Amino acid sequence: MPLRLAIRLRRTVESRDTPLQKPLQYLKGVGPKRAELLGRLGLFTPQGLLYFLPRDYQDRSQITSIKDVKFGSTATVKGTVLDVGLKATRGRRTLLEVLVDDRTGTIAATWFNQPFLAEKFRKGQEVLLHGKIGSYKYLQIVNPEFEFLDEGRGDPPARPYASGIVPIYPLTEGIGQGYLRRIAMRALEECVPYLEEVIPPSFQRLRRLMPLQEAVKEVHFPASMESMRRARKRLVYEELFLFQLAVALRRDRVRQEKGYAFSIGPNVDVHVRRLFPFRLTGAQERAIGDIRRDMESPRPMNRLLQGDVGSGKTVVALYAMLAAVANGFQSALMAPTEILAEQHYRTLERYLARAKVKVALFVGGSPGRKENLEALAKGEIDIAVGTHALVSRDVHFKKLGLAVVDEQHKFGVLQRAGLRLKGQRPDVLVMTATPIPRSLSLTLFGDLDVSIIDEMPPGRPPVKTLWVSRKRLQEAHEFLRCRLREGRQVFVVYPIIEESERLDLRSAKEGARLLQKYFPEFRVEPLHGRMSSAEKERIMCDFRERRIHILVSTVVIEVGIDVPNATIMVIEHAERFGLAQLHQLRGRIGRGAEQSNCLLFAEPASLEAKKRLEVFTRTNDGFIIAEEDLKLRGPGELFGTRQHGLPDLKVADLVRDLPLLVQAREDAFRLVEIDATLKKFPTLKGRLQGSSLGGLSRQGLASVG
Ligand code: ADP
Ligand code: MG
Repeated sequence: MPLRLAIRLRRTVESRDTPLQKPLQYLKGVGPKRAELLGRLGLFTPQGLLYFLPRDYQDRSQITSIKDVKFGSTATVKGTVLDVGLKATRGRRTLLEVLVDDRTGTIAATWFNQPFLAEKFRKGQEVLLHGKIGSYKYLQIVNPEFEFLDEGRGDPPARPYASGIVPIYPLTEGIGQGYLRRIAMRALEECVPYLEEVIPPSFQRLRRLMPLQEAVKEVHFPASMESMRRARKRLVYEELFLFQLAVALRRDRVRQEKGYAFSIGPNVDVHVRRLFPFRLTGAQERAIGDIRRDMESPRPMNRLLQGDVGSGKTVVALYAMLAAVANGFQSALMAPTEILAEQHYRTLERYLARAKVKVALFVGGSPGRKENLEALAKGEIDIAVGTHALVSRDVHFKKLGLAVVDEQHKFGVLQRAGLRLKGQRPDVLVMTATPIPRSLSLTLFGDLDVSIIDEMPPGRPPVKTLWVSRKRLQEAHEFLRCRLREGRQVFVVYPIIEESERLDLRSAKEGARLLQKYFPEFRVEPLHGRMSSAEKERIMCDFRERRIHILVSTVVIEVGIDVPNATIMVIEHAERFGLAQLHQLRGRIGRGAEQSNCLLFAEPASLEAKKRLEVFTRTNDGFIIAEEDLKLRGPGELFGTRQHGLPDLKVADLVRDLPLLVQAREDAFRLVEIDATLKKFPTLKGRLQGSSLGGLSRQGLASVG
């Protein structure tokens, strides 16, 4: 590094109190009172002001001759002040009229009740006016924004922003647009030279980024809309780069840790595969390939297995668990609900019927818990399946080698960490059936490696989805009766549990009662969240064994239930469900060779709800649905910001800026590969430690531990 550069970098890291960081009240033109108001906009330092981006721009570069202005339009005119007149009008109002002439014509700029403005105007001044054109006896520009163009006059001195493209900032009470522009301009003049580049030059060249100082100027007072876009891109990139750098550093740290290196030779492979009654799909094979490589490496695995409902993740997880067991270790599988844990348990028992592998179930108060706990601690149990009960304090593994977490978004980071702590750096496999849009998975699970199962097991016709109107209820019932007579089973889902006076919605109970009346020859049962787990389990069992034909439930069946004979899903008040939820529900059917159907009863009141349902009936592809969901609702609402580790992005927009996110991520990861300590990039390191992202890189995102 050239010496001069090295010195400059050192200086930044050491000197915290550049003009950038001093309290905003000391910026000329601010003062304590205004500083307080600006605080409401989240502005506390000149640096904050520099990164406070306009929400829009006003293009004043088109100056209209006064003779050409059109009544009712908004225009920018430029001319000389001919006269300034202040009059009193009826009702104690004042009218300020400033006559401006541009040699093609004369226009009166008018302001009501702002007599103090009169002092600002002098005859002969060059002025730029922007506002709506009106007329009252003569041509007027009403309550216009104005800037003085002649050097050294007015308040403030003439600025390049008088014409051209001017920023429009978010405002708060007591802070006007003109004022913000002035202080932004002042901050730019006084502080921009202190802004330090943090993006390494090679990436700047690679991504053709505008230099930081220029970008900050251009984003406030752009020379053109094109250059504003480039400036914005640069700032977005910087924000995403810093964020991804935190992610990359964290991931690197986890990878430095020493975990187990399992050996998964052909012998193990053949043995495990023999337990599966079908051939794995190509996507399953790829995922298993990824997992094998991870498990065989001494680095702890930290992998996300993503795949639509029914795509066959469980088998992949089972492969991994058995590989660990074959190496003399224990495995754990944690599910978000008891029903799901029990189902996993049963599934594993079925696959393992011919194997000498001991599986035990750990849920809240399951019988035999004490014996199971002892057996687990002694290493007599190979695979522990359970809910978060697995992370309670009395659970001890002898030698936990692999922790699988299903439906991971249901868990807090802490619970996952808890499971990991039950072993010494066990490998971790996180499964999620919620397709996550790319931008979010790079953000939320940015430090996990990802395998995607994007292929369904063969021989399953895709589910057909119909949006049924109330008028055709009769027809719908006949359709159900047909399927039921053929021996198929039906899910009916309601959005709420009990009758509610406020939301005139029929609950599962009430719905079950009505359906039972309608289908006397079949057994209809409700299932809802207020039931004890024993009750729920009994009903699920009856449904699996086909003793119940129609299961009417609330969203408790949302996750993971696997009953291939159930081929109909009826969703009541479908407009009340989010897209992701609808998709999960539909995933309950279409699990066998029969054609499955999803019927939606919905009367959407809002346009958004209507769009949601349209998207949902149009496609079965979880990733498309997830992208649409993200667009409709935004990332914050989709995942809830804080607890899920979504960063507080100020400039970037995860939906719009995905391509930049991908670039920034690539670059950040490359940088960490070159220099994981950032020794060669002290400015960058300083920025990261100084920002909230510093915390992010310490506490981590979705990753475990
Ligand atoms: P997920 O956990 O991804 O929702 P599951 O692992 O529960 O999916 O698999 C769904 C169903 O598909 C199960 O009944 C399973 O036995 C079956 N299955 C999984 N993989 C295959 C395959 N390769 N070929 C045929 N059936 C499969
Ligand atoms: Mg599964």
